[in-house]
Amino acid sequence: MEIKDNAYTIQGLKVLDICEEYGTPLYLYDADKITTQLNKLQEAFEGLNVRFKYAAKALTNINILKLMKKQGVGLDVVSIQEAWLGVKAGFEPKDIMYTPNCVSFEEIKMAVELGVTINIDNISILEQFGHEYHDTVPCCIRLNPHIMAGGNTKISTGHIDSKFGISVLQMRHLLRVVETNNIKVKGLHIHTGSDILDAEVFLRGAQIVFDAAQDFKDLEFLDFGSGFKVAYRQDDATTDLKQVGSRLKEAVDKFNAEYGREMEIWFEPGKFLVSEAGYLLVRTNVIKTTPATVFAGVDSGMNHLIRPMMYDAYHDMFNLSNPSGTSRVYTVVGYICETDTLGKDRKLNELREGDVLAIKNAGAYGFSMSNNYNSRFRPAEVLVINGEAKLIRKRETLDDLLRNQVEVDL
Ligand SMILES: *Cc1c(COP(=O)(O)O)cnc(C)c1O
Repeated sequence: MEIKDNAYTIQGLKVLDICEEYGTPLYLYDADKITTQLNKLQEAFEGLNVRFKYAAKALTNINILKLMKKQGVGLDVVSIQEAWLGVKAGFEPKDIMYTPNCVSFEEIKMAVELGVTINIDNISILEQFGHEYHDTVPCCIRLNPHIMAGGNTKISTGHIDSKFGISVLQMRHLLRVVETNNIKVKGLHIHTGSDILDAEVFLRGAQIVFDAAQDFKDLEFLDFGSGFKVAYRQDDATTDLKQVGSRLKEAVDKFNAEYGREMEIWFEPGKFLVSEAGYLLVRTNVIKTTPATVFAGVDSGMNHLIRPMMYDAYHDMFNLSNPSGTSRVYTVVGYICETDTLGKDRKLNELREGDVLAIKNAGAYGFSMSNNYNSRFRPAEVLVINGEAKLIRKRETLDDLLRNQVEVDL
């Protein structure tokens, strides 16, 4: 978002006008920002035989999936339902990587029938997979390298207590299952969670994959997951992509030479592509002064953006309606009957009742984690693309809340 003549705009459109047209609360996405982020990744990993698979769970609106497809990006899905959405959006099954956790073998079979690449993350399923398919369906294996990345254990998946992946400490067992069932392993995968800052940590993960790869003879790709950090605060450090890119290229070149084949290198960015492209726009309902705090109560809450309460995530915000107002301190809270703080002790340009606040970094895990708690409708979604604001999801109505309820005689 840019500020021009005291008004915030996206691609030249006034954001307050978009709020007038579609109402609040509203999820607003800037397609240009998604493209910019993708270009950054493409540049950083230029020298590699690289494929990007957008992690759909970050933001699953079908138009966003189509936009990714148009940009030449594949898809990473974590459920059969996301795989179906991907196919609906026009992805070829072969461009979809299916990385589920703790799903039934029935669901895995459905994914095999759909033709997507199966990423297996536990030995029990691997055995069942081997019994059923032997070497007829090549698969990928998700390893857990036990690298702790990021500050919050809720978003870190690589640590020793994590439920994700097959531990690298179980390599011998894993290889026995692969060999005795004649399973064809065409890829190895790690995904250690969000917020890797350090090229060093990234390379350590990669090295574990290179070491493990020596024991598999049919590999075509190595998938390093995601975890590129984006800035949530203005002065947050972000992943030095250029450095990760050049260090990884060195390491991959060396690996390829030893292994005797050129690996495809896959990444599955979610947050990196869509987080900063999205804003949750909310209207201030009430300014409420208590003996200790000035609360700004807005027409949204943890039902629409759960990250602050669930992950203690910091989402920056600013007042769209009064960009030059005096700076004051507010605690911004939602309208849900829970303590649902969106931002504590924030310095904002004076907020008046009726003012619209923009909450940043709402593109990833915003709408996709939203719910109907308190029987509130989920917001509409609008995408700004080619200089036009387009409604890509209608605001819910009472019918949506009642849709699957069955009224019986009581
Ligand atoms: C969630 C997820 C991602 C995306 O993570 P981000 O932090 O949003 O980039 C990538 N791969 C897998 C397997 C995931 O589960």
